[in-house]
Amino acid sequence: MIILDTCSKKLVGRTDKKFCNNYCRSSFHNEQLGNRTNYIRRINYLLQKNRQILAATYSIHPAKKPIPLSTLFIQGFNAMHYTHQEKNQRNDTFIFCYDYGYKKVGKNAVQIVQQANI
Ligand SMILES: [Zn+2]
Repeated sequence: MIILDTCSKKLVGRTDKKFCNNYCRSSFHNEQLGNRTNYIRRINYLLQKNRQILAATYSIHPAKKPIPLSTLFIQGFNAMHYTHQEKNQRNDTFIFCYDYGYKKVGKNAVQIVQQANI
């Protein structure tokens, strides 16, 4: 049996009882909801930050030349988080954060693209 109650009262009654009362039950669920909401907020923040870095870098490197990955990383880019991937006709994979994406060029560079027709 998993005891979820946090008020540390001794539980009496049914053996499957996890909370001593409704107050403890709802506190637990609210806390879970809060943790989830914080988690989602954190990921959303990272995605939007990535998008911002891609957009800013794209705007100062308008030509299609490769940009060193370090240019993104020093701004705090986090490659773990992205919204989706797409392949073009030439089978290049682009990794997107919303409307800005990039593809790897060699080992240490990327080409940034802005998604058209959204
Ligand atoms: Zn309790």
